[in-house]
Amino acid sequence: MNVTTRFAPSPTGRVHIGNMRVAIYNWLFARHAGGRFLLRIEDTDRERSTPEAVRGLLEVMEWLGLDYDGEALYQSQRVEAHLEAAERLLRSGKAYRVDKGGTGRGEAVVFRMPGRAIVFRDEIKGALRKEADDLPDFVIVRSDGSPVFHLANVVDDAYMGVTHVIRGDDHVENTFRHVALMEALDLPIPRYAHLPMIVNAQGKPYSKRDGDAYAAQFREKGYLPEALFNYLVLLGWSPGDDREVMSREEIVRLFDLDRVRSAPSQMDPRKLLWMNAEYMRALPLERFMEGCRKELVKAGLLEGVEEDYFRRAMDLMRGRVKLFREVVADAAFFFTEDYHFDSKAVRKRLLREGACEHLRSVEERFGQVETFAAGVLEDVLRTLADEKGIKAAELIHPVRVAVSGLGHGPGLFEMLEVLGRQRVLERIRRARRTYCEG
Ligand code: GLU
Repeated sequence: MNVTTRFAPSPTGRVHIGNMRVAIYNWLFARHAGGRFLLRIEDTDRERSTPEAVRGLLEVMEWLGLDYDGEALYQSQRVEAHLEAAERLLRSGKAYRVDKGGTGRGEAVVFRMPGRAIVFRDEIKGALRKEADDLPDFVIVRSDGSPVFHLANVVDDAYMGVTHVIRGDDHVENTFRHVALMEALDLPIPRYAHLPMIVNAQGKPYSKRDGDAYAAQFREKGYLPEALFNYLVLLGWSPGDDREVMSREEIVRLFDLDRVRSAPSQMDPRKLLWMNAEYMRALPLERFMEGCRKELVKAGLLEGVEEDYFRRAMDLMRGRVKLFREVVADAAFFFTEDYHFDSKAVRKRLLREGACEHLRSVEERFGQVETFAAGVLEDVLRTLADEKGIKAAELIHPVRVAVSGLGHGPGLFEMLEVLGRQRVLERIRRARRTYCEG
């Protein structure tokens, strides 16, 4: 069967991750089937729809790699077709006019429900049914002449040849009306799949009060689009085994609606961060550098920094940051003498007995090496530790804190090599001045 899906957002604000997941599932379902994925902007609510919201939406879709086929359809340009459908229903007696409120200012068009139960099979929830008594007639054209969401939605789905409507759980109630409308208009009824809610740790709908809730926020924070994509895919679907980190191609190949869970999916920001770290680790150096560059430039740390030095520093940082922005705190010491000293690391490693004497002898030995290279420095330091009858760690830790201000970081010797002799010796000296002789 030819598959056509669509994403039909109402551009009234920022894009919530729940909506983004809807877009992703529609995209995946279409790509998996080799079908079409269309975009329809449901901008009929002229007051609440804004051009900025549309722009934000398109940006986020592009960022996540959700390419759509053909041109986007703007629902506001289809009003005539919507009204024409209402006329047809009026002519066949399936709709009637009422003067709501009796103001004489115009009549609304009301759809006449068929007076029987409405049934459809949801691809995720199974057979759903609602009795006639629970399905009252409803307005399809307001008295000001504007079509209501339900009418526009089904008329356009038919117009676009949509075969599968994949959307949020909150639309289940609407779907009973939509099925009735489509039957009355003699339109082909698509298959429906309603995705389970995204909830917080308490099982309540996940909202901005629970943390970042909009796709753009994750982008601003420096999350990788492929990580957010992968994470959102797993929020309601799994490949049937315990695979989690998967390439986009793999997901496209495996995705289906059968394995979408019907139970709510719990948003877990820590898991997303973990996922992001996995993708960061696997990033090619060039892309890692570009992401870090943006953050470091913003922090004013890259002025006058040579490209080769930057590259070598970033090569050491790769796999050590979960988010690009972390690189500012974790790698500033490569680029400035004004780096921050972590007070805990200072207390633990520098203000401890023997640390000053250790720094002094390391400084002396490092000053004598011919080539300031990782392997050489390691040999020298280990030999020194042996001579002193102490563990190498006793020397490594204070040196690390002295040259970086931090208790963690890349392998010390590689880091020293990149920093270079002059910086390293000056920093050790300065640390001794600050923390030892006074
Ligand atoms: N504009 C509606 C929404 O964003 C569309 C729902 C649908 O996919 O049919 O919720």
